[in-house]
Amino acid sequence: MDVCVQPGLVPVHEAIVRMLGELAPIAATEIIALHDSLDRVLAEPVVAPINVPGADNSAMDGYALRKQDCNDALTLIGESFAGHPFTGELRAGQAVRIMTGALVPAGADTVVMQENVTRHEQHIRIHQVPELGENIRRVGEDIAQHMQVLAQGQRVTALDIGLLASLGIAQVSVVQRVKIALLTTGDELLAPGTTYQAGKIYDSNRPLLQALLTRMPVEVLDLGIVPDNPAALRAAFTHAREFADLVISTGGVSVGDADYTKDILAELGEINFWKIAMKPGKPFAFGVLGNNARAQQCWFCGLPGNPVSTAVTYHQLVVPALRFLAGEAPGDAPVITAIAAHPLKKQPGRMDFQRGIFSGVNGVNSVASAGIQSSGVLSSMSKANCYIRLPAERGHIAAGETVDVILFDQFIR
Ligand code: AMP
Ligand code: MG
Repeated sequence: MDVCVQPGLVPVHEAIVRMLGELAPIAATEIIALHDSLDRVLAEPVVAPINVPGADNSAMDGYALRKQDCNDALTLIGESFAGHPFTGELRAGQAVRIMTGALVPAGADTVVMQENVTRHEQHIRIHQVPELGENIRRVGEDIAQHMQVLAQGQRVTALDIGLLASLGIAQVSVVQRVKIALLTTGDELLAPGTTYQAGKIYDSNRPLLQALLTRMPVEVLDLGIVPDNPAALRAAFTHAREFADLVISTGGVSVGDADYTKDILAELGEINFWKIAMKPGKPFAFGVLGNNARAQQCWFCGLPGNPVSTAVTYHQLVVPALRFLAGEAPGDAPVITAIAAHPLKKQPGRMDFQRGIFSGVNGVNSVASAGIQSSGVLSSMSKANCYIRLPAERGHIAAGETVDVILFDQFIR
């Protein structure tokens, strides 16, 4: 349990547990082409229909032979190319020229790489006697037929696509995409690309969330900027609910006079409004908006308006909820430790997600602050490559202390 959490604030992990306790994963599945399956969630385990490799084959360009004959001169009796195997059987004193990926001929038990052989016309001599079975890739050594290669609930990666292709699989069964309706709220917001007006700001949250969501198994309906006015918000959320499994909005969830979002959500659905023990990103609204057009429950996550708070609450709260909705198996982002390169300011009471610059050079993990830590300052977040996650109870961090780091995902692309 967190100690030192400010009274009335919900710890981050508790907010996640409470959300997952209410959400129901999407049950509908579909069969799609393998090449469309990147980042989709598998609805069923995948079992290997064949052995990979399908037969013993050569790992090198060289000569296939019997290990026991290696001390003698050998006679070449043919060739085995990838896709064009040697069809005869090799006997004592014989060798077959063989290429990488070509089938090992019957009778051969070893492949000698060509660098270790001298050839004179149809005869070879071996300089370096190989181990028995050397340079042979065995049938089923990568994947044995009937073995489970991927589990239900796994999100398909590029490497998984390669793996499934190696099994001859061209279609996969996946959970249907989560339908998201996205909107930002605020009378001050201008769409990027429109003329700047004094007193207004450009809407950074929607492009930011759209970009983050491209990595998720979702389909996004963009409802644009909604003004701070109850009728407009009511109309937008009513429209969003028709389409969506999950509505994501930003702004209007704090305590200002124009913060209507949570009132409208409470009017249309059932709202859990929490002040989360995290910094940035304290106010967060979660709940159900009623049923969508498919008679499924439509959920919502109301994120705070400051762009850094939007990004942090998206990563820490919306992503776990979305993974669960999408049928993905549970799994947290890996946490690594690093040495604070300099002191970090921290008040006890909330879990901090400071934006940092991590470096792992010569085996030393260290992390520095990415700059101004205010929740309105997106420039330092754009410079950052990680969160420095500091538990609620911790106070100021001295240089050289160990801290937890969670790398942003673009780090390994
Ligand atoms: P709010 O949560 O609506 O009170 O907004 C908090 C702060 O975030 C205010 O300074 C807003 O102007 C700003 N903000 C709200 N929405 C956005 C947005 N979509 N893009 C950039 N800044 C925003
Ligand atoms: Mg606002």
